[in-house]
Amino acid sequence: MSDENKIWLSSPHMGGSEQKYIAQAFAKNELSSFGDNIIEFEKNIDSYLGEKTKAVAVSSGTAAIHLALILSGVGYGDEVICQSFTFSASANPIMYQGATPIFIDSEMDTWNMCPIHLEKAIQDRIIRGNKPKAIIVVHLYGMPAKILEIVSIASKYNIKLIEDSAEALGSTYLEKKCGTFGDFGIVSFNGNKIITSSGGGVLICKTEEDKQKAIFLATQSKDNAIHYQHSEIGYNYRMSNVIAGIGRGQMEVLDKHMASRQGVNEFYKNLFKNIKGVSILIEPNANYKSNHWLSCILIDEHTSGITREEVRLQLLANNIESRPLWKPMHMQPIFSKYKFYGNRFSERLFNKGLCLPSGSNLNKSEKDRIKESLLKVFE
Ligand SMILES: *Cc1c(COP(=O)(O)O)cnc(C)c1O
Repeated sequence: MSDENKIWLSSPHMGGSEQKYIAQAFAKNELSSFGDNIIEFEKNIDSYLGEKTKAVAVSSGTAAIHLALILSGVGYGDEVICQSFTFSASANPIMYQGATPIFIDSEMDTWNMCPIHLEKAIQDRIIRGNKPKAIIVVHLYGMPAKILEIVSIASKYNIKLIEDSAEALGSTYLEKKCGTFGDFGIVSFNGNKIITSSGGGVLICKTEEDKQKAIFLATQSKDNAIHYQHSEIGYNYRMSNVIAGIGRGQMEVLDKHMASRQGVNEFYKNLFKNIKGVSILIEPNANYKSNHWLSCILIDEHTSGITREEVRLQLLANNIESRPLWKPMHMQPIFSKYKFYGNRFSERLFNKGLCLPSGSNLNKSEKDRIKESLLKVFE
């Protein structure tokens, strides 16, 4: 079958005004990392988050996490706590800093970092004389973590909190946006996220001082001198003003895309209502609001009579992409030697879970194809 008919997990979905902002950058010859698009894009993010944040547009979500770690004072030999159930980009920047990751299991309600295991881990690390320098919590698939509990643990032990909201732009807990609870937050504008700049990220700072320091680091740490002088290691992490134009255009359709993804989630909820052995990730209660970046299911093969992998292969045979849930970091060859605190709930998620096509651009006939295919599988 041709790729033309392929139904993807989450593909870019332009709003319409992106090219206008790109054209403006060309018209003004603002083709580097300075210009109106960057300034306006950062303003759009700040006003959308609504918490007096100081957004910094950078080249990727991964770069934003790296900068957040540097600004949190994480250096060689430090320990950093990280949610195990996540994409590797949450954890890789810990290694860039020569620091050591400590992985924490997930809880069942949101699939994100378990506050109980988090506190146990902090206490254990302190006893061993290695108080962690920072905590990286993730709002996976758009589902807010138990963020207030995690904020209170971080502040009780006076540890910096970094929120990886790469997948959760627009998600809220008690109507406060994900990414604004921690000392730093990050958002990704990679091509598969809820909105995209074709690649890019934002670091969410709380102070102008942190924002200026982040921009300094992201633009090669140039000292204030007439020649090029450097007193610190710098990075080439700033977003291009052309790319920021795409981000600007996409911010205009974020609410619309969220509504569409909510609709996709409803579609799956209805579809699986009467299918035994399949459960879908939904908000634990009304305090949580997910952007439903991806709709995810768990398949209990004993009840449903079919494995996760059989479902995936059936969908693939119908030219429909689906993907196992993230493989936890403590199970990854590169990270398996690091300490893990938990009950291995995230391993169960990985073994049973599947992400289903969730794009904001899924049309009626594509939804019909998915439905037909899934009903056939579970028949
Ligand atoms: C996509 C993603 C990132 C990385 O963002 P990039 O912009 O691709 O660098 C980090 N964490 C999570 C959870 C992600 O899904």
